[in-house]
Amino acid sequence: MVRIAVQTKGRLNEQSMELLSDSGIKIGDDKRKFLMKATDFPVDVLFLRDDDIPQTVSMGAADLGIVGLNEVVERGFDVEILQHLGFGACRISLAIPKSEEYDGLNWFQGKRIATSYPGILRRFFDEHGIKSEIHTITGSVEISPAAGLADGIFDIVSSGGTLVSNGLKEVEVVLESDAVLISTKPIEEMEAGKQATIRQLMFRFDSVRKGRGKKYLMMNLPEESVDAAIDILPSMKSPTVIPLAQKGWCSLQTVVEDKEQWTVIEELKAIGAEDILVMTLDKVVI
Ligand code: ATP
Ligand code: MG
Repeated sequence: MVRIAVQTKGRLNEQSMELLSDSGIKIGDDKRKFLMKATDFPVDVLFLRDDDIPQTVSMGAADLGIVGLNEVVERGFDVEILQHLGFGACRISLAIPKSEEYDGLNWFQGKRIATSYPGILRRFFDEHGIKSEIHTITGSVEISPAAGLADGIFDIVSSGGTLVSNGLKEVEVVLESDAVLISTKPIEEMEAGKQATIRQLMFRFDSVRKGRGKKYLMMNLPEESVDAAIDILPSMKSPTVIPLAQKGWCSLQTVVEDKEQWTVIEELKAIGAEDILVMTLDKVVI
């Protein structure tokens, strides 16, 4: 049995559970239980606050954990990063009042900086020879400068909206983070049974991740336009071309990124594509 620690509630919970479920690992949704067994896979899921996941995994109380890279780096426990999972993207940045003129890291010499990530900030400042007062706070870090508690902050940023609404500007990105799969020790050092389950799990996570953000396109195309279509399509290998019963026409199938689907569709229409079907892609197994 492999135990995987997941955030109980919060920003990573929903996508962690969705990743497990899309990977065929089904667990009930009894919110009162902190430990739940999957019905059809040798895995149980332990629900914790994200702060506690790195330590729990490093101690071996869970074999695996899904947690933000920021928490892993901040806590500094000895864990292996097995995979980046492609959700929960954010960065941890230094920000200062927008009225301040910023002339580089020296701005921070002797200043008071509020943060919930003192470990990462201390290391960063030490590396750059900056001496400043780091104030650790757990609540709303972004209000500290306006409240006169700090000169600047070091905090999680995703869109930057929170900074702007608090009159701050981002001046240095220190860490880019996303959700990662961590383990107690390198996968080769695990006992054989666990190792096999974990490899299977990682393969499924990878396939689910590769399918995200992609669409499957099918269309009818005059045969003489196939070469032009191949130039337009950024498919995985090359598109599948199947002859149609109607002479001179074929069916063309391929995978495209969500974000480029409209451009691709318009270009295909321009070379004569008809009956274009856009389908959701569940998984990509390579
Ligand atoms: P817990 O109650 O489990 O301790 P929390 O309040 O510490 O939760 P959340 O706000 O749920 O944490 O964030 C969990 C993780 O989501 C962060 O550590 C970070 O990796 C990621 N994340 C992504 N975008 C953001 C964002 N805009 N703000 C905060 N966290 C973000
Ligand atoms: Mg937390």
